[in-house]
Amino acid sequence: MYRICDVAVVDPRDGSVTPHQDVHIDGGRIAGIGATSGPAGEAPDVDGRGRFVVPGYADMHAHPLNLGDPTPELRLMLAFGITGYRQMSGTPGLLRRRRRAADDDRTPRLLATPGPVLTPLNAGRPGTAAAEVRRQARDGADFVKAALITPEVYAAVQAEADRLSLPVAGHLPAGIDVRAASAAGFRSIEHLGPGLGVLAGCSCHEEQPAPGRGPIPAPPFRIPFAGRVADRMLQRLVVNPAQLTSSATLDATRDAIAGFDEGRARELAREFAANDTWNCPTLIRLRGQQLCDDPAFAADPDLRYVTAKERRTWAAAAAAFRRKFDERRRAVFAEQFALQLRLVRILDEEGAPLLAGTDAVGAAWVVAGASLHDEFDLLAEAGLSPLRILRAATSDPARFLHRERDAGTVEAGKEADLVLLDRDPTVSVAGLHAVGGVVRGGRYHDGATLTAWKEEAGRR
Ligand SMILES: [Zn+2]
Repeated sequence: MYRICDVAVVDPRDGSVTPHQDVHIDGGRIAGIGATSGPAGEAPDVDGRGRFVVPGYADMHAHPLNLGDPTPELRLMLAFGITGYRQMSGTPGLLRRRRRAADDDRTPRLLATPGPVLTPLNAGRPGTAAAEVRRQARDGADFVKAALITPEVYAAVQAEADRLSLPVAGHLPAGIDVRAASAAGFRSIEHLGPGLGVLAGCSCHEEQPAPGRGPIPAPPFRIPFAGRVADRMLQRLVVNPAQLTSSATLDATRDAIAGFDEGRARELAREFAANDTWNCPTLIRLRGQQLCDDPAFAADPDLRYVTAKERRTWAAAAAAFRRKFDERRRAVFAEQFALQLRLVRILDEEGAPLLAGTDAVGAAWVVAGASLHDEFDLLAEAGLSPLRILRAATSDPARFLHRERDAGTVEAGKEADLVLLDRDPTVSVAGLHAVGGVVRGGRYHDGATLTAWKEEAGRR
């Protein structure tokens, strides 16, 4: 039992800030909150003076468990205030291990994971796809992730998942209209599509056949029987799927940009809100693809936290992007990115639910942990308020995951997964970056510990 003393408690739902509170932590939970009874005594009490406490951040689109040894990346995430994450690709082994694993309060909490992502390899036809959904439900998956499936397979997947009360999330199936997917119950759309997925639904050219969905990201996982060459190819694809954009897709992108209709976009956003269809835009991931050769990436000081090999891979992806696409083509990607920012603002203004996510680990220029802060900045650039961004990383993920009893606010009885900030996060996005300490599962990690974990990651 200890106290975080004399701290300002922030409620992400309404932005209220209650100063001079003591937050009592007992075991892994918040035992109580009340007016401060005085300054912190000796450790384990924590001095909260001048600080703000918010629920721990959730990275709602990440892949750390794809790594052989995820510990450095997980520590890095925690060091940046991420106390929980939604793993976006699973394996039968991962589901098995999770059932046995004890909670580790030195890594973020695994909030949800699917089994293997659905692709033609395990979900090529409606029957096999439905069987795969049943298998994943049995193995304890929290949702199924669509990656590369046909509309016909999607219908079978959604029906089977509905029957088992399992959400379907992921990439919009190619060839399916985004409105139809939303109406059918698709729970969360990742990367705004990917490709033209959501943008195509905002076009006044929509009566035309929907364009191909463009840069088709390969599933970020290893195909068991793929040879080393195929494996390397897949990995390159994960690094930057935009690299595979054909000229036909680029033309379709140009069309979608030209045909963008704000009224259609607002209408779609309202449908998302009505159907409870969430979007996890992963703007940092989209930026890393569509502006892959932006020199700002190569100069990012946070690159020191990734391995030299990863840095080389990303630099090579940037060079390949520049070789493949001339200035005119790169300008289309840049316009697409700008339009996606505008779209996110519209989603927010119309009340469509949003999640903060990054697509770490493996994606070009997406540094585990640090990238959630890049995402905060991009959401701010899109026009979201600091409070709205805080919500997309805290109370909204709790709502999305039906974990509101345990998480999402700083309240008695909830999990003690918290971030201590040195600045007010409701005033500016800089406040969201000012992580001065993290509580995970009740255990307090001070600023020095967080810095040490970052440095450790940087020494690899
Ligand atoms: Zn992903």
